[in-house]
Amino acid sequence: MKILVINCGSSSIKFKLFEMPEENLISYGSVEKIGEEISIFKYFGKVNIVKEMKINNHEQGIELIANTLLENEIKNIEEIKGIGHRVVHGGERFTGSIKIEEEVIKEIEQHSFLAPLHNPHNLAGIKGCMKLFPHTVQVASFDTAFHTTMPKISYLYAIPYSFYEKYKIRKYGFHGTSHRYVARRTAEIMGKGKYDINVITCHLGNGCSITAVKNGKSYDTSMGLTPLEGLIMGTRSGDIDPGVILYCLEGLNLKPSEISEILNKKSGLYGISEISNDFRNLLPLYGKNEKVTLAIDMFCYRLKKYIGSYMAVLGKVDAIVFTGGIGENVPLVREKSLENLEIFGVIIDKDKNKEIVGKEGEISKEESNIKIFVIPTNEELRIAFDTYQIVRESIPEK
Ligand code: ADP
Repeated sequence: MKILVINCGSSSIKFKLFEMPEENLISYGSVEKIGEEISIFKYFGKVNIVKEMKINNHEQGIELIANTLLENEIKNIEEIKGIGHRVVHGGERFTGSIKIEEEVIKEIEQHSFLAPLHNPHNLAGIKGCMKLFPHTVQVASFDTAFHTTMPKISYLYAIPYSFYEKYKIRKYGFHGTSHRYVARRTAEIMGKGKYDINVITCHLGNGCSITAVKNGKSYDTSMGLTPLEGLIMGTRSGDIDPGVILYCLEGLNLKPSEISEILNKKSGLYGISEISNDFRNLLPLYGKNEKVTLAIDMFCYRLKKYIGSYMAVLGKVDAIVFTGGIGENVPLVREKSLENLEIFGVIIDKDKNKEIVGKEGEISKEESNIKIFVIPTNEELRIAFDTYQIVRESIPEK
């Protein structure tokens, strides 16, 4: 069964076409810089295409993807039985992936106030696909869903309770599809049941978050109402004293939009190094450039603080897992963030750590009580799997 997975950002669409349940990737690609003077279309499948063209909106982008699939991989549109859409914010309402009906669209729209930078684009993709693939089952997979198992002590902010009741201000958490995927994979590797494992999952990509997974369920996570809280990221500050924001507003007379730009786009690795938000550019300067070294050391220090606190939260920890572009490819971050934790039963094997780059592997020493793994994330496959299951439930077997 062919399942298409769509991930719409503000000016991009990423897609992957799978044959399920075999989990075979048939083709993948992206449309980038949508709405700009020149957009870029990339397609990798039976043919490989990289070309510049003008794509005005998400619907046009999806049409281009559909036509390219028709030319190369499928005979008709109906061959694609399900489309899984990544949706960033599902609020408290969506605890898992769900078949998209009118009601669901309305609710995703209602949650847009919680993720104004993301949900409207996700919806544009959904609406585009519903028009172009009218007979295909559409499924929404929420970044927040995995975290809906968090207890109140984790997700409430200690501000007046009425702010939660009236305005739904609370921690929601993100990257849920990735945290869930690597937590389940860890259980498989360790030969344990999916609800029989405690794991600390570190998703370190452009955005970074860490989750305490207790008995297979999210118990606490570092991102909050928005993806700005928690770890230091490429361009985002992560945790900060809220007083800094008040001082910027009242003491420095900065506008809210300026503060948002600073905290989301000008901070993190980029803000401290003053050079780049990307480890590929920073690593060659580590130990040579003072601010770059500081930025990376701060990044690892914040991560270590969270790992330590989640070890305390969970008590018994089976494994610590690294994923995402940084987690998979940067041994330095793994080594520094787990340095001197031997007393807590975390012993990294420095040689194995250096070997495991961009692939799955165990990087702890035999005698480490807590296993340490690198597991490449595959959010799209997880969404494809959920979509496949929902399609199977909604189309009776012949
Ligand atoms: P996203 O969060 O957008 O999915 P990724 O998970 O691909 O992004 O992470 C992107 C980040 O990962 C880059 O900004 C860079 O810091 C880091 N990264 C990716 N590949 C490498 C690599 N080969 N070496 C070092 N860092 C890498």
